[in-house]
Amino acid sequence: MEILVENVSKQFGNFIALDNINLEIAKGSLVTLLGPSGSGKSTLLRAIAGLEPPDTGKIWISGKDATYQSVQDRKIGFVFQHYALFKHLTIRENIAFGLNIRKASKNRIKARVEELLELIQMAGFGDRYPSQLSGGQRQRVALARALAVEPEVLLLDEPFGALDAKVRKELRTWLRRLHDEVGVTAILVTHDQEEAMEVSDEIVVMNKGQIEQVGTAAEIYDRPATPFVMSFIGPVN
Ligand code: ADP
Ligand code: MG
Repeated sequence: MEILVENVSKQFGNFIALDNINLEIAKGSLVTLLGPSGSGKSTLLRAIAGLEPPDTGKIWISGKDATYQSVQDRKIGFVFQHYALFKHLTIRENIAFGLNIRKASKNRIKARVEELLELIQMAGFGDRYPSQLSGGQRQRVALARALAVEPEVLLLDEPFGALDAKVRKELRTWLRRLHDEVGVTAILVTHDQEEAMEVSDEIVVMNKGQIEQVGTAAEIYDRPATPFVMSFIGPVN
């Protein structure tokens, strides 16, 4: 198991954002946290990232207790909706950013950046600036940047939320392809049922800080476990 969330709870004042969450995420899988706004998806993702330590419970990453490990010590890549590219850096420099921080060698950085530009089919775009790209291309670069440092875990919080429906659909296909090629364990947060159904190995349906059901798209669609899942995702009766 790559990620193990054990009895994790988190409160903001009197509000219970996460209510005793237990979850196992298999190595190399693409798992989606799906639920309405305010259901605790981002809080759970931030806890796994180390950005928001839980009040109680434990988080294990690759067999290690990571509950209070710093963000820097976790091998995690992020893509957020508003985690924009650096405007004053070229695409190549944006992708190289994390490698530079880690003081990788010049040759290593050059090779890795070109490899990633190929992977996102933007080989000719390295010298451009983010403002010269479409929204969809920018998020492909954001994915490449997150993958540059070869993270063990890739966390995506509504990464395509700001884009129009057609581009979102295209990016889903990209995400699935990149995930499969790179073989990283990925957790995607979305409130979009169709996105979750299409892209995930497994879907975790959340509501009011609790997990309602975990299963494949087919399992959840065919056999919703609770009335909430039935109404949120299940077949229309
Ligand atoms: P989701 O991502 O599913 O929309 P969140 O995990 O962001 O839900 O938030 C769940 C609830 O927790 C929200 O309704 C929000 O009001 C509350 N919350 C989240 N983060 C904070 C915070 N830092 N301070 C206070 N309340 C918060
Ligand atoms: Mg959120």
